[in-house]
This record gives sequence, structure tokens and C-alpha cells, in this order.
Amino acid sequence: MIVEIVKNNEPITSEEIAAKLNITRAALRPDLSILTMAGILEARPRVGYFYAGKNQKGLISEKIKSIKVSDIKAVPVVIREEASVYDAIVTLFLEDVGTLFVVQEDGSLCGVISRKDLLKIAIGNADIKQIPVSVVMTRMPNLVTVTLDESAYDAARKIVEHQVDALPVIKLKEVDGKQKYEVVGKVTKTTITKLFVEIGKD
Ligand code: ADP
Repeated sequence: MIVEIVKNNEPITSEEIAAKLNITRAALRPDLSILTMAGILEARPRVGYFYAGKNQKGLISEKIKSIKVSDIKAVPVVIREEASVYDAIVTLFLEDVGTLFVVQEDGSLCGVISRKDLLKIAIGNADIKQIPVSVVMTRMPNLVTVTLDESAYDAARKIVEHQVDALPVIKLKEVDGKQKYEVVGKVTKTTITKLFVEIGKD
């Protein structure tokens, strides 16, 4: 009850808490000491009690929502849609990534291909030098993407909700009067882990 009262009325003095509970300040004192020592409440002299749990969590949540995709994005690795599955596998190794973004001749995004997509086709005895990546990739409009002005939190949430490793960062552009997406970066599980480490350092 004390925690609830403080949460709803902070800052609140011990007299005011005692009055709300119809008890004396002396009776309340041991409970306030325990809650303060446990870090659940914070006592500020001449101001009153604050709910400390919420304030700390609120700060972290504010911080990750204030960081934009444009602050954390990494360099994307792209491959043309006509490239073969074999070329895509070689590119994965050369570039040391797990996901490739597939682009058309004009550079606009048309698909995403992951390591499991490539493994799946490779174990099926197909001639992987003859098969273009466009046959295997996940394509528009089924792609999960982010834009530069979305938050790091939005990107991480999409990665978790859609169970993917990487999101292309896209920018709308017009090509021959048609709306297309330019790939200007990527946000991956590694990007989010690096951010987590940075926030932890602070
Ligand atoms: P892995 O193949 O290592 O499991 P993912 O979990 O990223 O990698 O991929 C799972 C499936 O989701 C693959 O079929 C892949 O094509 C697809 N995929 C990957 N990234 C995206 C994305 N951003 N949007 C839509 N589909 C995606």
C-alpha cells in the first residue's frame, strides 16, 4: 500500500503517507527504511519520497527511445537479383554477414536473403550456380523494414516480433515516376547488441 501511495502521489512526505494509512509516523518509519534501503523508494530531504523503481526504468526506456535508427545503422551488404545462389553464399563469407539485401538494377530494394534461405536451397542438390537469388529470397511487400527516423527500440521490437536477424533501413525515392526503396543501412541483432553494450557502459 505504501508503494502504491508513493507511486500515485510522489513526491510525498512521511506525514502525508501516515495520514493516508491512518497510522502514526512512528509506526510507518521501519517500513519506509526497508523500502528505501531496498531501492524501491527514494527519500529526498525536505521534498519527500519518490518511487525509485519507476524512475530508473523510465530513464532507460526514454534513452532507448531517443536513439534513432540513423544513429546506430550499419553498412548494408547488397546483391543483385540476377546473382546466383552460389554468388550469394560466397558474398556471405567474404563480407562476414548473415543476411544480404537484394536490389534491382536501379539499386532499389526487392528482397532479403538469409543464411537459412541459402542453406535450404543448397542442401536440395539444386545447381546453385544456375539459380538466381530472386527465386529464393523473401520479397516485397513481405519485407520488414525501418526508416532513419524510427527509434532503436522500434527496430529491436520489429526484429523480435518478426523473428528475423536483420532489417534493411530504407528511404523512399522516385524512379521513373514509381515509388521505390533505396537501402541506406541495416539494423541487425549485432547492431542492437552493440547498442546494449554502449548503454551498459554509461
Ligand atoms: P536465418 O536464416 O539465419 O534464420 P532470419 O531469421 O533473419 O535468418 O530469416 C528467417 C526468414 O525470414 C528467412 O526466410 C528470411 O528470408 C526472412 N527474412 C529475413 N529478414 C527479413 C526481413 N527484414 N523482412 C522479411 N523477411 C525477412
